[in-house]
Amino acid sequence: MAVFSTAAGMPLMPASTAAQAKASKATVHYQDQPNGMRMCHMCKFYIGAGGGRSGMMGDGMMGRGMMGGGMMGDGACQVVEGTISPMGYCDLYAPA
Ligand code: SF4
Repeated sequence: MAVFSTAAGMPLMPASTAAQAKASKATVHYQDQPNGMRMCHMCKFYIGAGGGRSGMMGDGMMGRGMMGGGMMGDGACQVVEGTISPMGYCDLYAPA
């Protein structure tokens, strides 16, 4: 049978790898709540809903956590796939 030879030169990669590969939430143990003072909003990999970065100043406590009502919606992450909550946390956390 020649069936096997057809796949020989083709890596069996899912189509999604065409884009940049990010880690899955499960891989990095993502959670929807902060780990103490550490949260996505304070992480250098976080991409806010508006596309801006959050690392302007380190004024410690929540700062303006809920400003605007709705402006602090879920964002994204440079290294973890999917929708990311500003109040989330994962193993890859790195202070901004
Ligand atoms: S690396 Fe982890 S902690 Fe940092 S923004 Fe992405 S999901 Fe949040």
